[in-house]
Amino acid sequence: MRRTRIVATIGPASDSDEVLKELVKAGVDVFRLSFAHGDIPSCLERLRRIRAIAPDLAIMVDIPGPKIRAGSFGTLSVALSVGEEIELAEAFGEESTARRITVERENVLEQLKEGDKVHIGDGGVSLEIVRLAAPVTARVTSGGSVMGKPGLSLPSSIMNDRLPTEEDRARLEALRDEEFEILAVSFVRSGFDVESVRAVLKRDDVMIMSKIETVEGIENLNEIIEHSDSIMVARGDLGVRLPIEEVPHLQKEMVRLGIRYARPVVVATQMLESMTHAQVPTRAEVTDVANAVLDGASAVMLSGETAIGDDPVGVVLTMDRIVRRAEESFPYAAWGAGLGVQRLAASSTQSSRVTAAITGAAWRAAMDEDAVAIVACTRSGMTARAISRFRPPMPIVAITPSESTARQMRGSWGIQEIVISPAQDIDTLCEVAIAELKRCGIANTGDAVVLMAGSASGGTAITDTVRMIIVP
Ligand code: PEP
Repeated sequence: MRRTRIVATIGPASDSDEVLKELVKAGVDVFRLSFAHGDIPSCLERLRRIRAIAPDLAIMVDIPGPKIRAGSFGTLSVALSVGEEIELAEAFGEESTARRITVERENVLEQLKEGDKVHIGDGGVSLEIVRLAAPVTARVTSGGSVMGKPGLSLPSSIMNDRLPTEEDRARLEALRDEEFEILAVSFVRSGFDVESVRAVLKRDDVMIMSKIETVEGIENLNEIIEHSDSIMVARGDLGVRLPIEEVPHLQKEMVRLGIRYARPVVVATQMLESMTHAQVPTRAEVTDVANAVLDGASAVMLSGETAIGDDPVGVVLTMDRIVRRAEESFPYAAWGAGLGVQRLAASSTQSSRVTAAITGAAWRAAMDEDAVAIVACTRSGMTARAISRFRPPMPIVAITPSESTARQMRGSWGIQEIVISPAQDIDTLCEVAIAELKRCGIANTGDAVVLMAGSASGGTAITDTVRMIIVP
């Protein structure tokens, strides 16, 4: 089993039933669906269609927050050359061209000033506002190619709406009864933003993933991670808002913090960018993906490569190969030893302290006895995510009565999921776990298996027990 997960963004190149099925076969763990494109009913239709095609995978719905997008440039790249003047116009559903870029947000252009910078997409193409009298006109200061519906990065004074924005609120309300596992929230700037989104979503079964892509997001990183269930290193916007040379270091810092807090971390954007059109990635891209794996990322993400690229399936197969090879060189034993029984950050609560102690003990026991698997009996998935931060060499198996928790595991590093019937005592859990491990070919008679569960006396809501089972 590949342990680092692959997230694929769905777009025009990949949202047919045929391509989606091929993507599942190629190894996608999480489908990312942007709710920034299209109206709510069509987004919901796509979500339900993907659910039907991928009943066991995780679906990540991405809400745009104050992100402003350009109208589509189409699927072929459009060149914008330095010195060219381009009109900007507020309009919805109208295509952008090399002469006129449509801005899909009202009351934005009136806030611009002469000299303001507008970055398109992940920052390669930049414009400067040169005239405000209608039509608002900008000059290209850094040229390049654009395609699809790129984000427009405007001065932060214009993109400072609180989360969730009015549009996000409508999306969250529409999502209340839908089946999906992860909500990615763009432009999170504080723990308060996370809690505000959570309060509107009102779903305990959905993990909130904060996209870290602003200066404020970096300044408040600890607080945001503490309030979030997972985070995304959104390198595209991050590299526009902060000096680009900071991005690799921020990525490493976020992965490190994710491990401390037992929160999955997705490394995103431009991972195999050249494969949007080319058949082979650059050496630098291959090295970037491998390094993300070696840094300890929980998942690596494909964006335009699968959304608008020429060969979404080929790019997933390539990423799968790179990740598997990098995992062969992953320093499993040293990683866990380096972590020791490090307390989970945010360990102010007794239950997180107990989880840290129990998972530390389980890891040590599994390593000492060369166990074939570590089993986490878990309702919310927390115990499985907490043992996953040790990056053990043996499989981690999450046994859960919750289908949605099982699907969420597809976004966490190295966790295999098994759904069982609810409310079992610890002896029954051990029996069920061993039978399942034998059935899956993970454990045989005489093998050691380490299992963590909540005991009846400790109150099963908290994982308070580690058992070493020698498989009968
Ligand atoms: C990013 O900016 O890197 C990112 C992942 O966000 P989006 O794809 O929504 O622009």
